[in-house]
Amino acid sequence: MRLITRGLEKIITTVATTTEHTTTFWVKLQRDIRKHYAEARRAFEGWAEREIVQWYDRTVRVVLKKVNRSTAFSDRKHIPFNRFIRSNIHGQGKKAVIQSALNAYTAGLNTGEKEIIRLTALTQQINVGQHEIDKRIADGELPDGTTFDVNKQIRNEILKKAEDGKYIAVIDKNGVKRMYNIKGYTEMVARTELREAATAGVVNTAAELGSDLIQVSSHNTLTPICQQFEGKIFSLSGDDPDFPQATLLAPFHPNCLHSITIVFREVLERRGIQPYIDFSTGKTEAHPTRESHIPVRKRKKK
Ligand SMILES: [Zn+2]
Repeated sequence: MRLITRGLEKIITTVATTTEHTTTFWVKLQRDIRKHYAEARRAFEGWAEREIVQWYDRTVRVVLKKVNRSTAFSDRKHIPFNRFIRSNIHGQGKKAVIQSALNAYTAGLNTGEKEIIRLTALTQQINVGQHEIDKRIADGELPDGTTFDVNKQIRNEILKKAEDGKYIAVIDKNGVKRMYNIKGYTEMVARTELREAATAGVVNTAAELGSDLIQVSSHNTLTPICQQFEGKIFSLSGDDPDFPQATLLAPFHPNCLHSITIVFREVLERRGIQPYIDFSTGKTEAHPTRESHIPVRKRKKK
């Protein structure tokens, strides 16, 4: 990614300073830009195929260990990871996460690429216009110092962001275009997609085992969207008589640090299930097991 960033940096410096107006120059520059974006896509694809699979498998391994150790299933035979992970559901699951990671990343790259190409097209237009004006200045038709100002403001706004290294654009849910630098954006997507991989690993493992309950991790978060889920137990199917249906699964937002894990009704029942139900349905703010849990309204922003 650093190579790609450096390549684009050089191009932006050229765009910022050049007075070139020929089509050949700009066509070549645009081809180079597209090449760098294509490389970024390929680099991410390689990363996703490697890391997402690893993270997914790691998650399943941890869950399976928990299942194999659990005394709730003394009648169940030990499930070997190597055979378990080869099932269709996990193969499909990994493919789906990789695909959605690629879609998320590519969307940002594509919109960014369009924006940078637009920057070059506007700059070319300005240079061509200035070239014409310069000729007319030389012919004495226009006074010295006349400048071509069409679209200059829009072009300079995009240029400023590009000079800050922001080559990626994302249209947020309010329709506002936000620009990001490649490093920050890649890290954000990577972090979020690894969380997605972990969640998919847990959900698919639950499906494979015929297990229905999951618990959201907790770290006394200050993020409002996560607070309503933190530490609670949910039913994946929505068929559980006591626990609410999981309507949203972690990650709840980009850079979310929450994860889910499988829990077994049999185990909860043995421990006394009511406190878990009361906490998960919001009847109480007292977490059934975690002493460090702080009730949401008592958490303070630092
Ligand atoms: Zn979160």
